Amino acid sequence: LIQLFVPLNVLGFVYREIKQALIDMEHMFGLMDEPREVEDPADAPDLAVAGGEVRFEGVRFDYDGKRPILKGLDFTVPAGRTLAIVGPSGAGKSTIARLLFRFYDVTDGAIRIDGQDIRTVSQASLRRAIGIVPQDTVLFNDTIGYNIAYGRPDADPETIAEAAQLAQIAPFVEQLPDGYDTMVGERGLKLSGGEKQRVAIARTIVKDPPILLLDEATSALDTHTERDIQAALERVSQGRTTLMVAHRLSTVVGADEILVLDRGEIVERGRHAELLARNGVYAAMWQRQQTAADDAGDASTADAPA
Ligand code: ADP
Ligand code: MG
Repeated sequence: LIQLFVPLNVLGFVYREIKQALIDMEHMFGLMDEPREVEDPADAPDLAVAGGEVRFEGVRFDYDGKRPILKGLDFTVPAGRTLAIVGPSGAGKSTIARLLFRFYDVTDGAIRIDGQDIRTVSQASLRRAIGIVPQDTVLFNDTIGYNIAYGRPDADPETIAEAAQLAQIAPFVEQLPDGYDTMVGERGLKLSGGEKQRVAIARTIVKDPPILLLDEATSALDTHTERDIQAALERVSQGRTTLMVAHRLSTVVGADEILVLDRGEIVERGRHAELLARNGVYAAMWQRQQTAADDAGDASTADAPA
């Protein structure tokens, strides 16, 4: 029995890993039109975005009907503001993003955008309203211009170049012999992690969504690149409702609200200075990162538990 059980168990694990990878890929590629685990109600109207206020009301969620992952979350991100979510690995940060994008439905409570329960509107309209900059972008085997325009195929060259400029990838592209027609991806020019992330940012600028989801995870990037990307992300998030999962606390200092999530619960919330003054979990995380940064001799090399 053991012999049978172990491989099955491994298979189960592999299956879950693959499924997670697929979910992440969906995020990256924005494959948004196919029905998933959630369905549109008949004749679901499109989401009508006013300012893009995001509200979680008593949100509970589990993946398996057993283990609660989110245990009753209440928060509001006012239109155009930035909410940062920090906390240890496994706390449920990415789950919040998946629920907002409606890869799953909440088990209890509701998520509303400008007052509309996201279960009542068409998924296509919901996903059009949300731009995602994932931690690890996979590019299509196509031109860099196509990769930037993806999501708005009608984008003209000026729009693409402008987005590239804002995302700070334009100088790189323009020195390539074929410029925006350069083939990238598996069979083309290999881009570095930072370059790919800039392409993802440019893509989001072209898409021009009122709501942004950032899983910043710039920890794989070198310090200099990380600062550039951070600056580009800040520019993109101007005037958009932004939810960012932050791995380095240095990037949440300016957020309008910070949620410290632990095991599916908000254990602290407030602005950076308030949380430092409280001298609790957040302050301890901050201290740890500062110490790590001092040891490494550079503030931005410190890394929070992801
Ligand atoms: P974080 O982003 O804060 O690290 P996640 O939201 O990814 O955390 O995960 C929260 C919890 O949910 C973890 O315990 C994780 O194992 C579990 N989990 C994540 N995705 C799935 C899934 N697809 N099926 C079952 N459990 C999952
Ligand atoms: Mg995560």
